[in-house]
Amino acid sequence: MTGLASLDLAAIPDEDEALRPAVRAFLEEAVCSRPADRRARSWSGYDPAFSRELARRGWLGLTLPPEYGGGGRSSFARFVIAEEMLNAGAPVGSHWIADRQSGPLILKYGTEDQKRFYLPRICRGEAFFCIGMSEPNAGSDLASIATRAEREGDQWVLNGQKIWTTNAHGSHFMIALVRTSGSTSDRQKGLSQVIIDLSLPGVTVRPIEDLSGDSHFCEVFFENVRLRPDALIGTEGQGWEQVTAELAFERSGPERIYSSMVLLDEWLAFVRTKMGGSPASTRLAGRLAAHLAPLRALSIAVTEKLSRGESPVVEAALVKDLGTSFEQMVPAVIADDLGSRAPELVPMELWQTLAYATQSSPSYSLRGGTREILRGMIARGLGLR
Ligand SMILES: Cc1cc2nc3c(=O)[nH]c(=O)nc-3n(C[C@H](O)[C@H](O)[C@H](O)COP(=O)(O)OP(=O)(O)OC[C@H]3O[C@@H](n4cnc5c(N)ncnc54)[C@H](O)[C@@H]3O)c2cc1C
Repeated sequence: MTGLASLDLAAIPDEDEALRPAVRAFLEEAVCSRPADRRARSWSGYDPAFSRELARRGWLGLTLPPEYGGGGRSSFARFVIAEEMLNAGAPVGSHWIADRQSGPLILKYGTEDQKRFYLPRICRGEAFFCIGMSEPNAGSDLASIATRAEREGDQWVLNGQKIWTTNAHGSHFMIALVRTSGSTSDRQKGLSQVIIDLSLPGVTVRPIEDLSGDSHFCEVFFENVRLRPDALIGTEGQGWEQVTAELAFERSGPERIYSSMVLLDEWLAFVRTKMGGSPASTRLAGRLAAHLAPLRALSIAVTEKLSRGESPVVEAALVKDLGTSFEQMVPAVIADDLGSRAPELVPMELWQTLAYATQSSPSYSLRGGTREILRGMIARGLGLR
């Protein structure tokens, strides 16, 4: 049990809990009157003006040091903000990836110049990032990445393709995993991370429509894109190790548990009414709360590790696997509950929110790493493989 034995329960410190009332009051005014099916899109909702307003209030880049414009707070502070945003269904998609993982990655591996350039822009809500890991032939099998950056003089010349890149069409920069030496048969060796300015000549971004009709992810093509020497982030050839650490940020947070939260809230509001209440729905509400409470505790326990600067890769995989199972269960069981009623007695907004969550939920256990891959990592962490 070596890999998971250290996942102790943790509590959110009082000074971070203290952020909650102000954030909640702001969201009540700014977001809560929007239709529920729109709020249900939360972290795929793109709204730069909203992101800049959060920045103005000091709620972006909370974990980054003050000398780079950040809040100098712990990962718990970010957890509180993230939890409130997702519960309200705030449109956080534009700044989310920069705030969650690109900023911390640049802080950890970047040069002083890179930190001074990117981090204040992230904290001001002016630099949005996307993640360029997946390729048509490299999703779960990331080690077979074929996009190449080759040295030419003091520049890097980039060729290849990324796919499923969330919000590439709304981002200024991509942090991409690319091959800087060797071939795909070298697997993890020869991979590096580069920061790509998406406005450069040779970059083409094409949105892809998903099942629900939204276009939040894209294909991105690179054709002889010339990158400056300082596009490399971290150490050449160490991309695999860097990406593994980055994925712990991506997999552990409440967004891997709370994707169906707006639907759950809408449904609870309905079953609290005279028309919507029934013994079966009360039992179901209790069952869902019993699933949610330990999951939240797990996510907070991982946050504690992140706040100590650790990289809890296996624990984050565990939270993501259990968390996405919960967020997929919510629309399924709510559909069962509502399906047993006369359709006209259920509010239209609740049906619409259920329809969106049902269409988007298959992706929850794909994005950020598939269930089968995570379970392989957990098995290894438990010493079973
Ligand atoms: C909504 C959404 C947003 C995304 N955003 C991004 C993004 O911003 N950036 C980015 O880089 N990527 C992103 N992705 C891509 C995502 O990370 C990949 O889809 C995922 O890693 C799976 O890769 P794949 O699609 O190539 O599937 P494959 O790897 O081909 O997998 C297909 C199936 O086979 C299973 N499988 C594969 N290998 C094994 C194995 N060894 N053992 C057992 N089963 C296996 C998988 O678990 C899966 O069920 C996003 C995906 C979605 C759905």
